[in-house]
Amino acid sequence: MSRILLVEDEDHIAEGLAFNLRNAAYDVDVASTGESALTMMADTTYDLVLLDVMLPGIDGIEVCSRLRQTGHMEPIVILSAKDRTEDAVAGLDAGADDYMTKPFDLDMLLAKVRGTLRRQVWGRAQASNHSAAEPPEQMRFGDWLVDFQTFSAGHPDGRTVELSPKELGMLRLFASRPGKVITRETFLEEVWEMPGSLETRTVDNFIRKLRQALEEQPSNPRHIMSIRGAGYRFVP
Ligand code: CA
Repeated sequence: MSRILLVEDEDHIAEGLAFNLRNAAYDVDVASTGESALTMMADTTYDLVLLDVMLPGIDGIEVCSRLRQTGHMEPIVILSAKDRTEDAVAGLDAGADDYMTKPFDLDMLLAKVRGTLRRQVWGRAQASNHSAAEPPEQMRFGDWLVDFQTFSAGHPDGRTVELSPKELGMLRLFASRPGKVITRETFLEEVWEMPGSLETRTVDNFIRKLRQALEEQPSNPRHIMSIRGAGYRFVP
């Protein structure tokens, strides 16, 4: 049974969400503050964290960046208010994998939970199954060497950057199709496992993050090229 940590301070939202997630056969713990979430995650390994942004004490963005800084790689989905898209962007920048805006559609949220957990299981299977079919453990991105095992990229000049599971998923997809145009829909299908989702902006946000991490001039990219009206193309 997959174990989910729901971090939400509004009781009625937390209770409703926990009820529906348990109904869908997930094991759910609820934390009502960022501090208690960090304490619980120190003791328990979760398969997924649903993380509200507006919390008393330290907020969801801070929780997210503290988790990533301390090596926690659990998938994190940010729950942000609809009129505060800057929270969603800040969450992604802090290392979250995805976001949903409130009030959310329950079916959409459950689909996102299923997709994120599938990807997590897939990642574990890849990590433990050293078969001939396993994807490459490293890729070149200009001068950077991306290491899929350590979730990081290293530059010959000594710089290193941490990369989130979703960012690595996008890089894997780029690496598998060098020079070919990859549509936003393909990214959503392959990396987010969310076919039919309209949230193509999520892809653009992650492209922006990857460029900031790995392009020498993010505003004038040489490796992740935008193809107008089509998607993105990777030039190693
Ligand atoms: Ca809240």
